[in-house]
Amino acid sequence: MAYDDENIFAKILRGEIPNATVYEDEGILAFNDIQPKTPVHILVIPKRPYIDMDDFATNGSPEEVGHFFQKVGEIARNQGLHEGGYRVVTNNGPNAGQLVPHFHVHIMGGQKIKEGSMARGMEAS
Ligand code: AMP
Repeated sequence: MAYDDENIFAKILRGEIPNATVYEDEGILAFNDIQPKTPVHILVIPKRPYIDMDDFATNGSPEEVGHFFQKVGEIARNQGLHEGGYRVVTNNGPNAGQLVPHFHVHIMGGQKIKEGSMARGMEAS
């Protein structure tokens, strides 16, 4: 499957759609989820065009993958989430219900999250 340049996160990266940026550097962008499921719900994406976790883990350089996850941890810590705990989720492909085909992780926290709840649809727990 080829990367779809018209996905919503590609448009955000090109500045065609606004976002509430939490953190940005040369490699990644973190912004608030438009439909937050928890008091803090941040999406973190690489700027390069990876479709999903499988693509990122397979084709990303060790430096890129390392930088990405280091920043996920740093962003969560800067939000104060490390004290109470938080959830990091990525949906990979149709069986997981991935909606946007640009790799992203959800950082969710700020409240007790029900066992088994998903990044989308807390009712799934
Ligand atoms: P997923 O099911 O993992 O692909 O989740 C995609 C996420 O992107 C959902 O939680 C949506 O609420 C979120 N989302 C979709 N469009 C936007 C947008 N324009 N800005 C911020 N978040 C978005």
